[in-house]
Amino acid sequence: MIQGARPMKIETNLLIGNSFEAGQDAAEQVFNPRTGEVIIDVPEASTAQVDRAVAAARKAFDSWSRTTPGERAAALLRIADRVEAEADGFAALEALNCGKPINAARGDEIPAIVDCYRFFAGAVRTQHGMVAGEYLEGFTSMIRRDPIGVVASIAPWNYPLMMMAWKLAPAIAGGNTVVFKPSEQTPFTALKMAKILAEELPEGVVNVITGRGHSVGNYLINHPQVDMISITGDVATGKKVLDAAARSVKRTHLELGGKAPVLVFDDADVDLVASTMRAASFWNAGQDCTAACRIIAGPKIYERLVDALIKQVKTIKVGPTSDKATEMGPLISAAQRTRVDGFVQRASKKAEVVLGGKSIAGKGHFYRPTIIAGPAQSSEIVQDEVFGPVVSVQRAKSAEQ
Ligand code: NAD
Repeated sequence: MIQGARPMKIETNLLIGNSFEAGQDAAEQVFNPRTGEVIIDVPEASTAQVDRAVAAARKAFDSWSRTTPGERAAALLRIADRVEAEADGFAALEALNCGKPINAARGDEIPAIVDCYRFFAGAVRTQHGMVAGEYLEGFTSMIRRDPIGVVASIAPWNYPLMMMAWKLAPAIAGGNTVVFKPSEQTPFTALKMAKILAEELPEGVVNVITGRGHSVGNYLINHPQVDMISITGDVATGKKVLDAAARSVKRTHLELGGKAPVLVFDDADVDLVASTMRAASFWNAGQDCTAACRIIAGPKIYERLVDALIKQVKTIKVGPTSDKATEMGPLISAAQRTRVDGFVQRASKKAEVVLGGKSIAGKGHFYRPTIIAGPAQSSEIVQDEVFGPVVSVQRAKSAEQ
């Protein structure tokens, strides 16, 4: 039980084949970002457990790959219904483990997750064929889609349950089997989800293992029995995956970092831009690869836009995850907050911090929504992903520039 919170069941067992078992290797402390306290230790999978998870997926592939799209769609629809039925429990766990405001987790993320499973249930039954024909006399050629095999799916900490849905739903819809590893920082919803998956899918179709990137993740991506790696994470991690995949010729699916620009021309509606940025830049405390974090404004609108942004961003309600009025929670970890603050402090030497720019005192990894005005194009704050509640605003000399 978590101190000061309602009792909440936290699963820590891995799913390997049809067995739930504790990880047999080093324990990883999992923190509550709102308080900075440890919630529970989760042991990571041993290499022998990873081997068994991959073997279970390999074995399940023989029959799962031969099921019809209709059968796989039915399973996905059942999974969607189960997530929907347990929406409150999933949202509470996600809020606890990631520091997400409960309204965002329950109201926005869970419905999108449920919809993802339903989407792929439909998509797999309505695929278009590619061109077939007689390209060589006496032969009819066609292209058919076949499942790939065992997919190693590895998720980050910013949208744990949603990333799980994005990875599992298309893979199992297509007749593949999966070994899924959540981030070592946010394993709770994946381990809760494992219970549902074990009940709704044949043994071994999805296996869930825990562990750190450099140990369990690294072992998994180099596993000879894995046919494809799907990873969402840092660019540096993506490079390691490509390297491992190149050595054993595995397929890859990479979703890596981002630094989304927003171009604001002089004739834009300044209030509309500012209110849009309030959400687009600071959603999930800016820990978002699509965060609109790099605003480039025309010379005539720049000053007005900076003022309007300050006015809007000031009103973001930062607070406890359980409070329904909270719009922005803490950052995921102490290390992430230190990293974000490092970017801001370095930027402040050559540009102006016009809002925020520091941590919020007290428990938890809270950071003030921050706006940095006037950094140079070559500066770190413009070039590198911050992954926090920080936007930069630059003045362009002209629309052409
Ligand atoms: P990360 O790369 O550190 O970790 C992501 C996952 O990869 C974790 O499960 C981790 O354990 C695992 N991992 C780390 N090193 C590994 C290795 N050597 N081999 C195998 N697995 C390994 O990223 P993070 O800190 O969890 O997430 C933040 C990053 O993810 C940011 O850069 C962000 O832009 C990116 N991200 C991208 C998207 C997207 O859709 N493009 C979405 C969310 C996050």
